Amino acid sequence: MKYMKLAEFYQFLEGTTSRIEMTNALVKLFQETPKNLIDKVVYLSIGRIAPEYTGLDYNFSEKSAIKAISAVLGISEHNVQQKIVETGDLGDAGKELFEKAGIKAGGSLTVEEVYDTLRKIAETTGYGSTKKKMELFISLLKKASPLEVKYLLRTITERLRLGIGDNTIMDALSIAFTGKKENRAIIERAYNISSDLGYVASVLAKEGLKGVERIKIQIGRPIRPMLAERMAIPSFILKKLGGKAGAEYKYDGERIQVHRKNDEFYLFSRRLENITNQFPDLIEFLKESIPQECILELEAVVIDPSSGAIRPFQDLMNRRVKYVTRFHIMMYPVAGFIFDIMYLNGEDLTMKPYPERRKILEEQIKITDRVNLATRKVVDNVEDLESFFLEAIENGCEGLVCKSLQRDSIYQAGKRGFLWIKYKRDYKSHLADTLDLVVVGAFYGKGQRTGYFGSLLMACYDPETDQFKTVCKVGTGFTEDDFKKLDEILSKHQINHKHPRVNSILTADIWYEPFLVLEITGAELTLSPVHTCGWDKIKLNRGLGLRFPRFTGRYRFDKRPEDATTEKEIIQMYKNQLQIRV
Ligand code: ATP
Repeated sequence: MKYMKLAEFYQFLEGTTSRIEMTNALVKLFQETPKNLIDKVVYLSIGRIAPEYTGLDYNFSEKSAIKAISAVLGISEHNVQQKIVETGDLGDAGKELFEKAGIKAGGSLTVEEVYDTLRKIAETTGYGSTKKKMELFISLLKKASPLEVKYLLRTITERLRLGIGDNTIMDALSIAFTGKKENRAIIERAYNISSDLGYVASVLAKEGLKGVERIKIQIGRPIRPMLAERMAIPSFILKKLGGKAGAEYKYDGERIQVHRKNDEFYLFSRRLENITNQFPDLIEFLKESIPQECILELEAVVIDPSSGAIRPFQDLMNRRVKYVTRFHIMMYPVAGFIFDIMYLNGEDLTMKPYPERRKILEEQIKITDRVNLATRKVVDNVEDLESFFLEAIENGCEGLVCKSLQRDSIYQAGKRGFLWIKYKRDYKSHLADTLDLVVVGAFYGKGQRTGYFGSLLMACYDPETDQFKTVCKVGTGFTEDDFKKLDEILSKHQINHKHPRVNSILTADIWYEPFLVLEITGAELTLSPVHTCGWDKIKLNRGLGLRFPRFTGRYRFDKRPEDATTEKEIIQMYKNQLQIRV
């Protein structure tokens, strides 16, 4: 298959803002892709070389890309720089320079060759790797047409902003290989337990839906996390859970999915990055405590080893560094509180009800100073739930996660549902919880903050339409340091038009691709004529907006944009708010 076909597909996507057109184009592409290449085409379309959890990245800077163009065309790096300033984009600059040099459509590059070479570039590490990566990339540029150059440059520098989300890919796969969108649920289940869309696509293309149904949990491949709904009134929580709940402390730390097979360990973050190297100390503690072959989940927190008391969340953030040293381990000692188990000695436990999974944990885990089970209590009345909640807060937790004890309380991978209900009360406002919103744009500041933005346009996520819908403009809660930090992060994600997956009535001064998630608090949710979250769903021609929004200071690097608070959750929060007031 010619790489030109992909390049033309990318070009088409760049010009469309309609999700239906995007899905149709993907369906056509998948149908025309040879079965043995489908996984590669999926990865390349989402701008990756392998699933995120492999941690495989190109590590190829814009500077290196400039060097490569200059070497192939025999022009100075300065000239390339100038073209980038002129066009505002590395890919466009590369394309124009190749056109100017009289390079015609190449046409010889194949998807196989591009994928294999890019993969080699990603896998090349260590001494001399920069040179080796450069040689490999130059070999591709030499065979590429200007249009292919544009997308090779964007791919290698991880800036291929096509805006295709997982949900759009799953819809397209379902239509392309089964003829209808309804089979998406089967594809989604396989994705939820494997976190690898390329692999699922490949099985689907080669073995059909039956093959996809046979996909099993595997050590080393993360399971997409089960998530909780939120409620603010204990009596409602109990009612929703059938009068009785397994209430567990909600530790305020980092969620970690642990995979173990004998001495082989993998740790995955909430957004399924491989973070095994960040917690060598925790792995040592786990070796003593957990079964030889299992997958389980815990919340890691920093503790005071002498008292066992939990230290604030900020302390744990100091452990979020690329290279953990003895200093980090000594200064910020961690403990793990295990709250679920999904796999044990070859057996998938996700379909077992929560009480059974908890019982297995109680039988299998050896409790030590550093590894414990989440503290829990079975409650069946409001007073007990309230006092357990206060006890959790007293012990440094955020609140409770109340879990269903019913027969259907399975581990719902990749789903947010009412089998788990979080109860975090924010006494200061009507809001029952903070919101995790995605930055999609910015408005210039006036006065003091000139040079930085004045406020950020924040959006929630709607998985139904795979879109980001606006909820508020936030300009308070930021420190000077935050402005600098945000400017640095966001400048890498600036685009010159509204992102195709952003649904906004407001026109921002600067647009960003949805990337960064921030925790936002506010006074209350109200009907809004300008925000698109919940549009027409509560009242015609009205959406929902957050009043008096404020940044809490918490960057949610652990969340992908698709993990942001959803439109459905915000609508529910709005309704709950009304109930509190009556
Ligand atoms: P939040 O921002 O409230 O942590 P979230 O979107 O990361 O929310 P939710 O599923 O909504 O995740 O809330 C549950 C989160 O609480 C889990 O992701 C996990 O990190 C944390 N947690 C702490 N203790 C527990 C527990 N005992 N059981 C389940 N989750 C727990």
